[in-house]
Parts: sequence; C-alpha cells; structure tokens
Amino acid sequence: MGEDVEALKRRLPLLEYLRQHNWAGQPVGRSEFVGLCPLHEETRPSFYVNTRKNVFYCHGCGQGGDLIRFIQLSRNLSFRQSLACLDSQTTPAVGTAAVLEQAAAFYQQQLDHYPEAILYLNRRGLHDPALISELKIGYAPGGTLRRHLTAQGYSFDLLRQVGLINVNGSDAFYQRIVFPLRQGDHIVNLYGRSIGAAFAHRFLPGTKGGLYAWEKVQHCPEVILVEGLFDYVVLRQAAFHNVACSLGTHLNADQFLELCDGPRTVYLTFDVDANQSGQQAAVQLALRLSARGITARRVLLPQGHDPNSFFVEDGNTQQFQSLVEAAQP
Ligand SMILES: [Zn+2]
Repeated sequence: MGEDVEALKRRLPLLEYLRQHNWAGQPVGRSEFVGLCPLHEETRPSFYVNTRKNVFYCHGCGQGGDLIRFIQLSRNLSFRQSLACLDSQTTPAVGTAAVLEQAAAFYQQQLDHYPEAILYLNRRGLHDPALISELKIGYAPGGTLRRHLTAQGYSFDLLRQVGLINVNGSDAFYQRIVFPLRQGDHIVNLYGRSIGAAFAHRFLPGTKGGLYAWEKVQHCPEVILVEGLFDYVVLRQAAFHNVACSLGTHLNADQFLELCDGPRTVYLTFDVDANQSGQQAAVQLALRLSARGITARRVLLPQGHDPNSFFVEDGNTQQFQSLVEAAQP
C-alpha cells in the first residue's frame, strides 16, 4: 500500500495536479511556487507548493501536506477515496492534454517574434491574421520550450513521454510552424511544418485524432476534404468554410467514421502529383465511402498542383469553385 501511494505521487506531482485544476501559482525561488489558496477564500496568495518535497502549505488556513492530503481536503474525501480518485486521474491522457495546451500557447506567443516564420506563412499563401489567431498557429524556434515548461513545473519525464522533448533533452520541434490538433476540448497532438531543410512534416507520437476542423463542418451536407493543413488554410482564406483536413491521404479509423456519420457529399481534393499517389488514394477512399452510402467526388486540380499551390499561384475562389462543380465521381 505504502509503495503504491509513493508511486502514484511520483506519477502525478502535486504541482502538475494543481495546474490541471487551473491553479495559477507563480515561481518564488528555486523550488517553490505561490498562489491563491484553493482551500479557502483569499485575495492575497498564501498557498505555497514545494516541488522538491512535493508538498503544500497555506499560511492563511494553516493546511498542509502532500497530494493525497490536498485531494482529501479539496474534495472532502477519505484517504482511501482520495487514492482511488487520484488513480483514475493519473491516466496519461490528463497530463498530456494539459502540457500540450501549455506548449501550444507558448508556440503561439513566439510566432510574432520570428519574422522568418511569418515570411514562411506568407510564402504558403497565408496572410489573414484573424485566421492565424483562430487556428492558434504558432512557431517553434527550438531550444526554448523545455526551459519554459519546466519553469512552469512540468516534469522532464512528462515532457519526454509526450514527445515534446527528445531523448537527449532538446526540443522535438525546431524551426517549425505549429498547428495544435484538437479533439473536442482537448489538444491531442501538434503538427510541426519545417520552415527549413529538416523533414517537412512532424507529429508528436500518439494519435492525430479525427479530421482537422471536423466539428465545424460535421453538419454541412457538402464537405471539401484536403490532405494538408496548408491546403486547409488557403481554402478557408478563400471563403470556403466547409473544409476538413485528413493530415495525409491515409485516413485513420476515426476520420473515416466521421465522414460516414451521416448523408453528405465529400469532395476529395488531394494532390495531383506526378507519381499519382494522391489520386490513387482519392480513388480508393471514394470507393470505400460509396460502399458506406456516402457520395464522393474527386476534385481534379491542374497537373502538379495541390490546393495550396493552386492558390499561391494566383488561383482564386471562383476558379476553385468551378473545379469543385466539375468534380468526378
Ligand atoms: Zn488556505
């Protein structure tokens, strides 16, 4: 029993638990944080967390102890009930969502400080500041995330587990435009597009979730499906609002089921590349969708184009609309 308790507390440090419950403590000194006490009403912070000892103490109400004690007090539970409650909360998903939220917010703040990132967005045809902010697009300069998140109290182990940090301790995303991928209220992954010579596309390990922006379009009778996020952004900018993105031509089971969850027409707008891989994937997907009673049409862009390059090279809304209307079964 004693050993289990220690293991539980190691899995979810007190500070991380508090952060997940929206406690906004600030660092004071090397291993201490202070903020408003979640256990009593106060206007001036007197609740201290010592991250080295993994304990709290409040100078206002005089309560103190470890994480289990905190759960007992804050939720009015017995020791055993607190343990059970904690056990269900230390599933990795909870910590992952919280740290991804912080990482995405940090990257979003960085974007405006790096002209090369803005330049890249412009080069890919993305100019609209409102859309950039709506999608919470950010920039990972590299070499700064780890320090930021550990200063906020996130453990090195958690950052490693989530994949934000490499085995050697450096940031996983380096000089990449970052799109947070959401599922409901939670960020489930980050997509990083290299603006330099590094491998173009990167995700963190784990699920990519369902279709990008599905919640926005799930009630649309007609959906334009694209394979890349830069295809998505130029279409949104060109006033197409019924667009979703599959983050590649191979749909995972969740993404496929989303498309099949009601009667609709799906316009598959994959790359028209020389090796035909985009179009082959579109044909296959169209067949699978038809078998489920979904109408699928292939939008044929000019040879060598994807929706992004189509708009970057002066294609306009009207021309793209004509291609959609001429889409093939
Ligand atoms: Zn207190």
